[in-house]
Formats: sequence, C-alpha cells, structure tokens
Amino acid sequence: MAERDYYEVLGVARDADQRDIKKAYRKLAMKHHPDQNPDDPEAEAKFKELGEAYEVVSDDEKRAAYDRYGHAAFKSGGGGGGRGGFHDPSDIFSQVFGGGGGGSMFDDLFGGGGGRRRDPSGKKRGSDLRYDLEITLEEAAEGVEKELEIEKYAGCGTCSGSGSKSGGGGAKACSTCGGRGVVGQQRGIFVQQVTCPECRGAGQVVSDPCGNCGGDGRKQAPERVSIRIPAGVDDGTRLRSTGKGDAGMRGGPAGDLYVFLHLREHDVFQRDGEDLFCEVPLPFSTAALGGELEVPTLTGSATMKVPAGTQGGTTFRLRDRGMSVLNGRGKGDLHVEVQVEVPTKLSSEQKEKLKAFTESIGEKNSPVQESFFEKAKRFFDS
Ligand SMILES: [Zn+2]
Ligand SMILES: [Zn+2]
Repeated sequence: MAERDYYEVLGVARDADQRDIKKAYRKLAMKHHPDQNPDDPEAEAKFKELGEAYEVVSDDEKRAAYDRYGHAAFKSGGGGGGRGGFHDPSDIFSQVFGGGGGGSMFDDLFGGGGGRRRDPSGKKRGSDLRYDLEITLEEAAEGVEKELEIEKYAGCGTCSGSGSKSGGGGAKACSTCGGRGVVGQQRGIFVQQVTCPECRGAGQVVSDPCGNCGGDGRKQAPERVSIRIPAGVDDGTRLRSTGKGDAGMRGGPAGDLYVFLHLREHDVFQRDGEDLFCEVPLPFSTAALGGELEVPTLTGSATMKVPAGTQGGTTFRLRDRGMSVLNGRGKGDLHVEVQVEVPTKLSSEQKEKLKAFTESIGEKNSPVQESFFEKAKRFFDS
C-alpha cells in the first residue's frame, strides 16, 4: 500500500497545533470507525491509517522524526530500538475518546472499543447507534411520540440469533486465528495485531452457518422505533433507548440507541430554559390610553391588559405560559416585550388632529423625555 503523508491523512497543515490535530482525528475517526462501517474494508484501512498518522503527529518526538525522515523514520527502526511500532487503531481511538470504562459518551456510542471484548461463545454486543432528530418548539413544550426509521443490524429470525442452522452448538474455534480473534500482520519490521478477517474478531466460526445471516446471527435491516419525547426537552437533550441499537453478534446483547434532539428555530418565540420571550407590536393609541392586547402563546392567542401610558420596550410577564419543566412540575413564564407602533400614511385630517394634540401636550405628559433631560442636565453641569 502506498503511504500517504500523515498530515494529508489527517487533513491538517504541517504546522497545525495539537488541538487542531486532535479535533481532525476525532472527526475522521468517527467517520471511518469500523463499527460505523461494518464490513467495509476500505473504511477499516482508512481507520488504521488514521490511527497511525495520529499516533505519530500527536507525539512531539515522533512528529519531529517524521518531519525529518518521513515514513522511513518508522520503517528501519534504526536507533529507535523498535519504538516505531504502531498500536491497534482501536486503542488509539479509545485513548482519544476517553474509553476504557470511563463512561465517555463516545465510548458508549461505539460499544466500548468496537468489540475488542471477546466472549468464548463468539457473542459480541451490538453497537450503540446515534440518531439526530429535529423537533419543533411546540413539540418540545408538549412532548411528542415520534417514529424513527433506523438503519441497523437486527437479530436474525431464522436462527433466533444463534447464527447456526441447527440452532446453536455449531460454533467452533476459528482456524485462521486459533480462536484469538486477532492475527499478526507484517508492517515493515513490526508485526501488528489486526482483527481476524475470517471470524471478524469473534474467535469462533459457525460450522453450519444460517443461510439467512451467514452465521452472524444478525442482519442489516431498517427498523421502525417509536420513542416518547417528554415535555420540556431542549436543544442538545440526549435520549437513550436501551437495547434499540444494533443486535449483538450470535445472540450477544443489543446496543443502545441514542437520540440527539435539535430544536428548530421558532418564528415568534425565543427560549431560555423554561421561559419564552417574544416581541409584540402595540398600537400607539393603546399604549397611551391603555387597553387589551392580543398576544401569541404556544397554545394559541391570549389577551393581555396594557396599562395607560405604557412605553415601548416594556416587558410583561404571563405566568405559566412558558415551557414545561423537564421531569418536573409546573411551567415557565412567557415574557412579552411591547414595541409601540407609530402610525404611518396619515391623512391630512389626521395630521391636523395630531398637530393640535401635540400643541396641547406639556412636559408632564412625557415622563421619559423629562427624566432624560434631567440626566442630560446633570451631565453637562458636572
Ligand atoms: Zn440466521
Ligand atoms: Zn479468526
């Protein structure tokens, strides 16, 4: 295999700093992870290449050697005492994503290191899956039931997940790897451990494979999954549906499904936690005389009382008209900011009336103006 430049593999500049390198690796490793691309040798090769590139470029010493000698720095082993050997790409992956039972989200998502945990029966836990779902503010407020179509591995119905035609008992140790699940592969002078291509890491093969699933006990099939989204969820809320991820290999436990919620932007309301905010135009005359104003809420319109002499920018609070509290009681409030609307396209008669009205107006009718000039005067006097 021709070796690509490590910086090119990671898609970073030669002088990229460690933060950018890690970021680039994370992004690409997620994309090419074997669990995300089952049975795709090209993705697996890319994932391996990526692991190597990251292993070198993320280590200042190795990076310096690579910058000077290129790939040759890790081929000969000369002087380095064999330090150039590469690790299993999955180990690099778990390191970067904080794997190893640390409870990192990404570790969860990929089923804890992509099936490196072997079970003597060849059983393997299915991968966790991620599904991104966009919902409306109304749906988030009320809660909603959604049906999702998930591309996943489902348990094989023909063999009940055992992978064996006779219904279990047909498993025997894989002859290619001797049941270890990994085989050695020569890389330069180093021998690298890679997942066994025969049993795909299971360590076992089925002697009488099921015709429907080829011995895996599971098959790729879209599945409809309905999930209940509780009232009060927000952008970024993550819901977990236990056992709704990929079916396990040969009857192994299923992974989980994680649904990541994204809130669509609303035309009228902005949200901050449980509270909602909106701006509503207030007719100039209602602002002066007081009266009722119709305002929108998430469940239809409501009438709000506006006192006489309301200034533009005043905010009114409507109790319990906001969002539900997630897993709690009660609701947030709706904050309505009024924008006083100045009338336009006046007729000459209306203009005359307004002029006459203006002449009748005194200082005491304009509290905002009065306090403004008070402040301005103090400012100039000081
Ligand atoms: Zn089957
Ligand atoms: Zn094998």
